[in-house]
This record gives sequence, C-alpha cells and structure tokens, in this order.
Amino acid sequence: MNKNIYNKNFIFKIINKDIKNKIYKKIKTRFPPEPNGFLHIGHAKSIYLNFEISKIYNGNCNLRFDDTNPEKSKKKYIKSIKKDIKWMGYKWNKKTMYTSKYFKNFYKYAIKLIKKNYAYVDKLSKIEIKNYRGTLKKAGKNSPYRNQSIKKNLILFEKMKNGYFNDGEVCLRAKINMKSKNIIMRDPVLYRIKKNSHCKTKNKWFIYPTYDFSHCISDSLEKITHSLCSLEFLDNKSLYKWILKKINIKNYPKQYEFSRLNLEYTILSKRKLKILIKKKIVKGWDDPRMPTISGLKRRGYTPKSIKDFCEKIGVSKKNHLIEIKLLEYCIRNNLNSIAPRFMSIINPIKLIIINLPKNYKEKIIVNNQILNKKFGTHKIYFCRNIYIDRSDFKENFNSKYRRLSINKEVRLRHAYIIKAIKIKKDNNGKIKKIFCTYDKNTLKKNPINRKVKGVIHWISQKYSIPAIFRLFQPIFTIKNPEQNKNYLNYINKKSIKIKKGFIEKDLISKKFKFFQFEREGYFIIDKKTSKKNKIITFNKTVSLKEKINKKNI
Ligand code: ATP
Ligand code: MG
Repeated sequence: MNKNIYNKNFIFKIINKDIKNKIYKKIKTRFPPEPNGFLHIGHAKSIYLNFEISKIYNGNCNLRFDDTNPEKSKKKYIKSIKKDIKWMGYKWNKKTMYTSKYFKNFYKYAIKLIKKNYAYVDKLSKIEIKNYRGTLKKAGKNSPYRNQSIKKNLILFEKMKNGYFNDGEVCLRAKINMKSKNIIMRDPVLYRIKKNSHCKTKNKWFIYPTYDFSHCISDSLEKITHSLCSLEFLDNKSLYKWILKKINIKNYPKQYEFSRLNLEYTILSKRKLKILIKKKIVKGWDDPRMPTISGLKRRGYTPKSIKDFCEKIGVSKKNHLIEIKLLEYCIRNNLNSIAPRFMSIINPIKLIIINLPKNYKEKIIVNNQILNKKFGTHKIYFCRNIYIDRSDFKENFNSKYRRLSINKEVRLRHAYIIKAIKIKKDNNGKIKKIFCTYDKNTLKKNPINRKVKGVIHWISQKYSIPAIFRLFQPIFTIKNPEQNKNYLNYINKKSIKIKKGFIEKDLISKKFKFFQFEREGYFIIDKKTSKKNKIITFNKTVSLKEKINKKNI
C-alpha cells in the first residue's frame, strides 16, 4: 500500500468532508497513552495515524497522558513514552498534556451533573454493582441509592473528595438507564476513591475520574476535533456524547474508532507484556524480543521501517492478524540501503590454507555497500589461517550441496577459490580443522576450465576479533497468543540463542550503526550487553531473506 492509499482511509475521508463543510478551521488530534508501561508497535499505529493527520492537514497533535489511575501511572513510563515518540520523529503540540491537569475541571463538572440530577453517589459494593448491571440478555436493576436527593448526593460527594470513605466503599455514577441495550450506559461509574499517591498530584485527591468521564472532557478542553481510538471503545461512544451533552460544554469533538493492530506471535497489551517481564521470560521492556518500540529499536528497527509498516497496514474497522513477515520486510527493505556489508563468523571452524606461507598476508579492498559507494571501503586480509562457518562444510554431501567438502571447491567471498583436502577431528568426532589449498589465479575471477558455484564468507584469524551474536525467535509458539487465555503456556523456550564467533577487525574502526553480515542477516551492536560483557555483542535484526520454513518456532 502506498501513501496515496493510506490517505484515502475512512478517517481521512471524514476529515476531508469536515474541512469541505467548513466544520473545523484547524484539525486537532491527540495521542492519549496511559503511563502504565512502555509503548508497543500497536501504539505506533495510533501515533502514526494521529501525527500524520496533524502533519498532512497542517494541524496539531497533542500528547496527553491519561494518568487517571494513581496506582498504575508512573513517572518512568511518562519518560519512556516521550522518548519513544520523539525517536519516531514526531513533535507534539506545545506542552505535554496530562489528564491530571484537569482534575479540578472534572470535579466541577461532576457537581454540575449531580445538581442536574444526572449523577448519584452509590454505596453498593463493586460486586453488587456488577451484579445489578445485568448482562447482554438481562436488563440491569436500579441501585437502591439511585433516587437519593440531590442534596444528599452533594454531601456524600464532598465527603468522598475529603477522604472520608475508603477505596471501593462508594462511587459516583451517572444516572442514565439501567435497562439500556448498551451495557456501558447502565449507570457507569464516573468517580472512584483511590488513596494512593499520584505521580503528578501527589496526595491532593482521594477521588479519581474514570476514563469515560475524563477522556471526553479532556478532548473538549483541548479542542480536539477528531478523537481517534481503537474499536473496543465503540460502545463507549454513546457515553462520550452523553457526558458532553449533559455538562453542556463548548466543544464537541467526535470519536471515531479503528481496529487495533494484532501481530502474529505477539501480544500487544502493556499489562500482558509486564507479566513477561515479571516472569523473567524477557529481560525488561527494551528486550530485543519485545514488540515495544524500545525493544524494536534495540533489535535494530529504524523509525522509517516502523512508519513504513504503519503505512502498509493502513487503517480500517476490520480486525486482522498482521503477518510478522510484513514488519520484517519493512526493516529489511530499509537496511538494504543503509547497512554496510561486512563478514562475520557465527559458528566458527578453523581452516588452514596449506599452500600459503605461515605469515602470508594479502590486503583486499572491499566496498562497504554495493548500492552506495559513499559508504566507502574497508580492508580484509587473505592469510593462511582463516575462519569459516561450520555449516559451510559437509563431510558427506549430495550433488546439490554448493559449499565446501573434501575435494570440492568454493570461492571465498572477495578472494580466491579454495579446495578442501583433509580434515582433523577431535576425540568426539567433531571436526576441528579443515585443510585446503587455494588457486592463486582466481582472485575475483573464475578459472577458465571449471565452474565454481558456491561462495562462502570467511575471516582471517589474525585480523578478527571475538564477538557475541544474539539470535532471536518470536516469544510465542502460537500465531495468535492475544486470543488465547493460556498464552503463557505457549512460550518459545528458544527465543534467544547466544553464539560466540568473530567479526572483521576493520569493522570496529568504522562508526557504523547497522550491519549486513554477508549471508547471515542484518545486525546492530547492542551497547548495553557489549558494555556489560566487555565483548562486542550484536543483535540480529532480521534475516536476509524471508524464511519460508518456520519449523523452529
Ligand atoms: P494496552 O493494553 O497496551 O495498555 P491501551 O489501549 O490500554 O493498550 P493506551 O495507553 O490507553 O493503551 O493507548 C493509547 C492509544 O493507543 C489509544 O488510543 C489506543 O487505542 C491505542 N492503541 C493501543 N494499542 C493499540 C493497538 N494494538 N493498535 C492500535 N492502537 C492501539
Ligand atoms: Mg490501557
């Protein structure tokens, strides 16, 4: 899908119509994360939509932290969310907004609702409220406190505000219709008591508005024109409108819903991601296996690739399970032009070229990028002792095998054709060394009389440095863990593999960030682990080609 198609999604159509009908002068959107965890790729979909709209229509996009729950809102999450949005390349409108900034406004509007007999203080317990609410098939039942006088409600609400009651003892509810077909409209809770300290307002408040009560008012106060949220809020829309109408507020933003992103082999919920961390299935929010923005960044994803992905998945009202290979395609496509190429050996085996003198050293200049000469060159050295990858040698082979075997030839990338002569095994029968000869007339050219199809990568032992390679697989073994209640039963125990190998020495002096290791894939240096282990450590971002066979996951 290209940009033109993204711009034609149903939300753009609505905005175009509103602009044509001169309903709004300036388009204003908002991204309203709850600071209860790190952002994930699902949030990226919403960020992309809201910020791109504000860019395209020359409008604004607010960042508003939905910090109405003091138990869950944390400063560290506020910090990480800001960092991730900036990393994606977006600037929000003026100051950062916080729902908690409007606590006074909500309080004022709650009193207004009570005075108009549209809200009451309910003393039913949480469970009773749930039971009274009914089900889709059964109408709800009025609370015995529903018809309390306005005066009594005002007194009780004041007591709630002053900390007279404990958590869960009473709450403020909207007086709508307990028989409504839409369960959300069956006297929803507007305010609850929480005695926790709030990360912004500390101990100033004992009462906290619910999402439904605070969100529409915050949108209105900020003059948001289009309030875009995911589909699960469809039923809340009636309440959104009801509240704004009953408090008689000036601006009436409109809510539109789109489908959430679901990605194969992944869960996209901060609450569930937090469980993975708690259970030590992953190491923190920015673990490269995590679908968080910080995890993807550490894995080697770029803002461009994530935006490209958001562009390609588009926006609709239908729920899809997006294939992981689409996300991988986007980063591969990006790295193909920005990552220099080097050689690394992930499963090393020693190879000795016996017809070379011991101290032989031949410098070969290699382009860092074949698509772009601006990336410059680096040096490799052809020597007697080199490393190749263990998987590039087979003792027993069939005619289709294109790599090295006894009496078989392959080309060493950028260098000569070699032929294996013999091998040496250790006591367990494992191959320790391969002995070869090289053909001196084959530097970067093919011999006249024979065809050599296989090309393998290699590194000179002397001009190599040790490195660790971290290879990843999805965290889950099932395609749609989000839909499975027992998702924790499907953890992939092989989601990380750690390999000790070698990289070219010349790589270190070049200040590159992303790498294509020939025949291995795209990699990024993991600064955190490199520092901790005191050995350069790479995270594998993605393979070079789409994997057809997923048998390992
Ligand atoms: P989570 O379960 O991960 O906490 P959430 O919806 O509760 O998700 P919020 O912090 O409230 O998270 O979300 C901020 C915005 O991001 C909301 O507008 C929400 O609709 C959107 N969003 C969250 N997850 C997704 C997703 N998977 N796809 C698209 N948008 C999403
Ligand atoms: Mg949430």
